[in-house]
Amino acid sequence: MTESQLRGEFDDFPDTTTNIPTAAPAAAAGDTPRDEFPDADAWVREWFAPAVALKITGDGRGLVWCAQWWAHTEVAVRMDALWKGWEAARRDKDKAAMSSWWIQHADHHLRAVCNGESGPMWRCTPGLHREVPALRTVPAPPGWFATGDGGAGPTFA
Ligand SMILES: [Zn+2]
Repeated sequence: MTESQLRGEFDDFPDTTTNIPTAAPAAAAGDTPRDEFPDADAWVREWFAPAVALKITGDGRGLVWCAQWWAHTEVAVRMDALWKGWEAARRDKDKAAMSSWWIQHADHHLRAVCNGESGPMWRCTPGLHREVPALRTVPAPPGWFATGDGGAGPTFA
């Protein structure tokens, strides 16, 4: 089979590569580097979500995603941090910076936020948001933790 025949077999498949965002043009000399996106929401909708493909099960196992990811505080905080790191990697002169961002940041955060068994969106599906309460806490007894003036710190009996 020739190369053109091989290519022809795939002509009926939609070209999914056209939706992959490209990096912004480099800033001209003297320009202050600017973020590509105004905030994490725009970044997730316009760059991150179109670039990431995962097998979403949405049944409390495997991987989950919620279209209202921003309604989950932990996910919102993590995605905001990911966006800021992505912007920094995009501007970095080190050509490996974006690879490092994926390996050292995105991969870890995705494992945490998309965990269908224990992640912050475990009750959601891509089409259905359900509230997931934050961890419950009880105030620690006074003096339990060290303070700036050298408190006693935790005691364990
Ligand atoms: Zn949700």
